Amino acid sequence: MAKYLPTIGLEVHAELKTRTKMFCDSRNDPDEKRPNVNICPICMAHPGTLPVINKAAVRHVLRVGTALGATLADFTEFDRKSYFYPDLPKGYQISQYKYPLVSGGSLNGVAITRVHLEEDAARNQHLSATESVVDFNRAGVPLMELVTEPVITSAKQASDFARELQLLLRYLGASDANMDKGEMRVEANISVAKAPDMLASADTRGTDAEGREKMQTLGTKVEVKNLNSFKVVEKAIEYELARQVKELEAGGTIRQETRGWDDAKQATYSQREKQSSHDYRYFPDPDLPKLKLSGCPEFANLRETLPELPWERRERLKTVFGLKDEAAEIFVGDHFLGSFFEETVKGKEGEKGFVALAANYITSDLMALMKAEDPRADLGEDEATDRLIAITPAEFAKLICMLADGEISSRAGKDILLALFATGGSPRAYAETNGLMQKSDEGTLSVVVHDVITANESVAADVRGGKLAALQFLVGQAMRETKGSANPAVLRKMFAEKLGITSDI
Ligand SMILES: [Zn+2]
Repeated sequence: MAKYLPTIGLEVHAELKTRTKMFCDSRNDPDEKRPNVNICPICMAHPGTLPVINKAAVRHVLRVGTALGATLADFTEFDRKSYFYPDLPKGYQISQYKYPLVSGGSLNGVAITRVHLEEDAARNQHLSATESVVDFNRAGVPLMELVTEPVITSAKQASDFARELQLLLRYLGASDANMDKGEMRVEANISVAKAPDMLASADTRGTDAEGREKMQTLGTKVEVKNLNSFKVVEKAIEYELARQVKELEAGGTIRQETRGWDDAKQATYSQREKQSSHDYRYFPDPDLPKLKLSGCPEFANLRETLPELPWERRERLKTVFGLKDEAAEIFVGDHFLGSFFEETVKGKEGEKGFVALAANYITSDLMALMKAEDPRADLGEDEATDRLIAITPAEFAKLICMLADGEISSRAGKDILLALFATGGSPRAYAETNGLMQKSDEGTLSVVVHDVITANESVAADVRGGKLAALQFLVGQAMRETKGSANPAVLRKMFAEKLGITSDI
């Protein structure tokens, strides 16, 4: 079979977090469940109303552009994009065509074409075969659209990009970007082209401009919409790439069309033939002023307003704390866990053992407890907001200290965490009350060691005779005697000394 090179470009829409809508003062509340509450004559498109640009929405997009290292427009305008649909009573959507707010930049190594601002449409709900309702709460909500260059070459790269964009939007406070709520929606433009032999090796892909140009002319682009989770982004792209290759191998051609994702069938399906942009009859909206951005104090010095960005934090967690990729990714992706970790290890950056132990306990034990408490705490799609944790980072840090110093066993550490997870409290007080402090005091333990040897004379003789495996049995007996509260390393050393063998075993 001939080799095919996939070419993928993404279009991502994100609802912006603002107090009011894009062109009116109706509330922008994605959580409003009652239909048609947050509406007014402007977002209902009554004749004679005049839209007013929401500066907070413009600022969000410009900050995203700044974080992407893109070029921010100085001049911009809004255009009308005409189409007929029941969720769009004006008969057009206000968008940006010729002068997007943001051009260029990159994210996760993927070049960005543009980022522009538009308004969301209303929401159609089909209640039955004969009854549909339109909820205009969403009509006119500020919507950011980001378009990548067609330089993505795999489904995984596409979903990685979408994940990083979701993180960025959350870090910037620009959008909650929950995909299952439609706050972030991904569309993929997908094509495959037969690889010319000279381009068949992977390392020339995407770098040879001429070769890429040639491939572009070969592949027909299919747009896949309604990708509402990262998993679906990956699955739909994989499915579509395979479908196109199969079609071409069978001697067929690819139709330029828009397809949807059918989750039940795990397949894409044809929706309609793709419209070309002149069908939308874009023209500048005569009701809105053109914007000259350099004069606006709200848009000045945006770089200084940026928080630490996801990739910066990832890098810092790895270099300052020596975290492995997996732990760093968890802390970058989950705001709560990331802060919990940083507060736990505050001031102890240099103590590698402590830091590693803290990271390990958070990403294994603490996360398991959170997940048991609230299944939504599972990482990935969405960040659970209600955390049922009462133990504070300071208390947790004390627990990790006790573990690191060998004052408690790892078994006791897990028990204490389980006990204090939902109530909080002092780990030391809990350990003392419940007899979980490891006994390392040789005076106390020597009685136990003596008793165990007396009760197990033949095993003790084996150890004396050089059968070192038997030593572990004695340690186990002593641990049982102390109900697990002794330090096994100390016991091992004491038995070895008592039985006259070298202790470095
Ligand atoms: Zn309104």
